[in-house]
Formats: sequence, C-alpha cells, structure tokens
Amino acid sequence: MQAPLSLLPQTQAFIERAPTMLIGDAWVHAASGANMPVHNPATGAHLADVPKSGAEDVDRAVRAARQAFDDSAWSRMRPRERQNLLWRLADLVERDAQMLAELECVNNGKSAQVARVMDVQLSIDFLRYMAGFATKIEGSTVDVSMPLMPEGQFHGYTRREAVGVVGAIVAWNFPLLLACWKLGPALATGCTVVLKPADETPLSALRLAELALEAGYPPGVFNVVTGTGAEAGAALSHHPDVDKLTFTGSTEVGKLIGKAAMESMTRITLELGGKSPTIVLDDADPAAAAAGAATAIFFNQGQVCCAGSRLYVQRKRFDNIVGDIASIASRMKLGNGLDPSVEMGPLISQKQQQRVMGYIERGRAAGAQLACGGEQYGPGYFVKPTVIVDADQKGPLVQEEIFGPVLVAIPFDTIDDALRLANDSRYGLGASIWTNNLAAAHRMIPKIKSGSVWVNCHSALDPSLPFGGYRMSGLGREMGAAAIEHYTEIKSVLMSI
Ligand code: NAD
Repeated sequence: MQAPLSLLPQTQAFIERAPTMLIGDAWVHAASGANMPVHNPATGAHLADVPKSGAEDVDRAVRAARQAFDDSAWSRMRPRERQNLLWRLADLVERDAQMLAELECVNNGKSAQVARVMDVQLSIDFLRYMAGFATKIEGSTVDVSMPLMPEGQFHGYTRREAVGVVGAIVAWNFPLLLACWKLGPALATGCTVVLKPADETPLSALRLAELALEAGYPPGVFNVVTGTGAEAGAALSHHPDVDKLTFTGSTEVGKLIGKAAMESMTRITLELGGKSPTIVLDDADPAAAAAGAATAIFFNQGQVCCAGSRLYVQRKRFDNIVGDIASIASRMKLGNGLDPSVEMGPLISQKQQQRVMGYIERGRAAGAQLACGGEQYGPGYFVKPTVIVDADQKGPLVQEEIFGPVLVAIPFDTIDDALRLANDSRYGLGASIWTNNLAAAHRMIPKIKSGSVWVNCHSALDPSLPFGGYRMSGLGREMGAAAIEHYTEIKSVLMSI
C-alpha cells in the first residue's frame, strides 16, 4: 500500500486544534467534560477527541435553537436574506472544498478525490438549490363555499410556516452531504437546527458549523452536538421542545426515533436502509451494464443506502455479466483514500468489517459461492470487493442490508420474475433497470416498489429530485420541493369579510 499523501496545512490544523462543539455562539466541551476518540479507518490511527455530550448538552443546544427561532434576528429575517445567507454558506463550502474532502477522507476512509467531486460538490449544489427555495415558499388562495353560511363572504388562504426547532441525526457514510440534506431545507424555510453527527464522523460537521458562523448565521440557528447515538442521539430524539426530527441511518434506529417522536407528535422524516436491486435485461449494453452494476455496489465501499446490492440478470447474459463484474472487482486498487489512484477505501470500522465478513462466511456455509473477493485486507478495515452467486433469495445475503462491498447475483427468466424478485424485500429505496427497450422500462417502472427508479444508471441523485424510501426504507422525502413541505407546517386562514 502506498504511503498516505499529506493533508493541506489547514486540514491538519483543524484536526489538531481539538475540536469542541457549537452551542449558540460558544464552542464548548461536554458539561461532563467527557470526550470520545475519532479514528482514521484506513490506518486505525487516532485522529482527534471530540466532546461526548449527554442530555444536559443536548438540552442546552435545543434551548439555544429555540431562542434563535423565537426571538432573534433570524425570526425577523426576510426570505431574500435567508437565501443570500445560504448561498454564502455554499460559497464557503466551495472555498474549503479540498479541506472538507480531506476531512471526509481521513474520518470516513473514502477517497479524497471522490469526496471532492461527489460529497462536497453535491453539498454545494444542494445548498444553492435550497437557497432558491427561501424566496419561493408559498401558500394558495382558496375559493371557499361555506354552505352553512350562504350569505357570508370569505377570504380563504393557506400559508406555509417554518416548523421550528429541527433535531437532525445522521449516519457516517456521507457525513457532510447528509448534514447538508438536513441543513439546506431547514435554513431555507427559517427553522433552527441541532445536528448530531455520527459517532464515527463528526469532523466535517464541526467545520460546517464554523463556516455557518463565518457566513453570518445568528447564534443558535445551527448547533452541533457530538456524541453517541445512545446518549446524545436518544436525548435529542426524546427532547420535548424539538418540533421536527430528521434522521438518516439504519431502519432499526429509525424505528426507535419514530416511536420517540410520536410521544410528543414531533414531525419526522426517516431516511433508512436499503437493499436495492439492479436489474439487467438481456437486451442491455453488456459493458455498460457490468460497469454500472459494479459502480452501483462498490462506490463508497458499498456503504451507500441505495447501493445496488442485489443483481438480477436475465439468464442468457448472467455468466457474462457476472464474470465482467468480478473482473472489474478483482482489478480495483484498495488503499488509503488520500492516494488518488486508490479506487476503494476501508470500511468505517473494525466492527463493520467483521459484520460484513460474518455475512460472507455465513452465506458460504449455507452454500453460496464466491465469484471474487470474500476476504478482508489490512492494515485498516478493508474488505475486498466481493461477488456472490448461488445465494438463497430468502436468505440473509439477499434480504438483509450488509452495507459493504458485497454483491449477490441471481439469474431470472422473465420480466415478471425480475419484478417479483426485485420487490421481494422489506426495503424500497432505489432500483435500476438496464435495458435498451424503452417500452419494457416504462412497463416495469410503476411496478417497482421503491422511492427511486433509475434506467441505465444507478444511485444518480440530483437536488431537484425527491429522494426517500418506500416500505422499511423510510418516511418522507429529502431533496426537491418535497423537502420544503417536510420543514413547514401548513396553516389555513379563513376571514369573514
Ligand atoms: P445508525 O442507525 O447506527 O446511526 C445513525 C445515527 O443515529 C448516528 O448518528 C447514531 O449515533 C445515531 N443513533 C444510534 N442509536 C441511536 C438512538 N438510540 N437514538 C438516537 N440516535 C441514535 O446507522 P449507521 O450505521 O450510522 O448508518 C448506516 C445506515 O444508514 C444504513 O442502514 C444506511 O442504509 C442508512 N442510510 C440511509 C440513507 C438514506 O438516505 N435512506 C443515507 C445514508 C445512510
């Protein structure tokens, strides 16, 4: 493995200045004084210590967010000013793009080069897209009938109002981007935010908070509390003064957060797990389908909620497509994401590495065969890109979210078979169809039970297209105009005139 390349001096300096967390206008330690370590998964090396906050810290952050929402300059700010501030934040993210990409690399393990063009660029684009919404939040006028008051005259209209204090809890696979998916619509609509980044990946969120202050956000509009899910996350999701929770993470934790939210009727958006199918019809361009299916599963080490982790190929193409994907996988260069020639980084942690290896080993013991990979690699928490055949459609390899570079490939005969297999899942986040037959694609799209369907591409996201899940993949949508609805309440007004 090539020696890691160096970081920008400002990235190194940020990591070394022992980050504290932002509550109101103050950079603070946890009230308990406790810290938690942050590691580089490519080397296992200790990177920094961040505050390990508990209920008291979360309460302070929620109170700061409430105060900012109720009676600060923020609540009086006009939409145009909110638009300009959000645009300014996007400019600062762009200015610091390389630094943020390096933070994602050393904290998550992903390639810095990919993080620059994907995670950071998508964050910039998304913040700018949402900035435009600040001036386009609209109600409607309604011509009411009022049958019980035939002589009366009325003026009816609706208004959309910011929902209030938003508690945002995110996963570690795209730390900056997931934070921006929450922050963009919240700040465009006039909400205030308490963000709890993932235990493993707090660094880019802390830098984002610095940038928000530099952009000119009033104190308390954006707060970050670092800590564990069990303590800080649970305290935020149970806090009675949070008006909306927005969560990205596993379905299991999403259910806990959903139950906590219902105690106080807190509004909620849940972006959860997936087990998304890639379906290759026999007329598809074989080279494009094989390359596309490989990227669908191996991008970000397979740690993508909508990764194409189940591959269904029409039988006469099955051996060729699977062989081509295995050949792509076998050539992938694993290593430290600071090396621009590296194509696959480590998994986030040793725990995740062992979890992924456990699925592979149990699957093999149950009769599944390896087409390639199936081994761990180190130092660091690597798993070689893996393709598995002969797995049971009803077994854990096919039904459970592994969240690693593991593709399970299964042949099918007819399009009806493909649809039945694709929909045979508790999840419903994304699906891709690879074909040159437009009519077949159009017939299949309405029958696939997932929030996104891609044709001849996979995991292709745009700020303007809503993203979210059917079934156990979640509730609500992020991105697009749909996101704005989730950060606003609708108020109906009727005036007797
Ligand atoms: P996770 O559910 O373990 O953790 C996510 C966040 O929840 C972390 O910040 C964690 O600290 C917090 N948390 C954990 N326990 C909590 C509790 N009891 N109360 C409140 N908060 C708690 O998920 P993960 O392992 O970090 O991320 C992987 C999962 O995220 C996968 O299932 C993946 O599919 C999903 N994901 C979904 C999307 C999407 O948009 N649908 C995007 C990215 C990741």
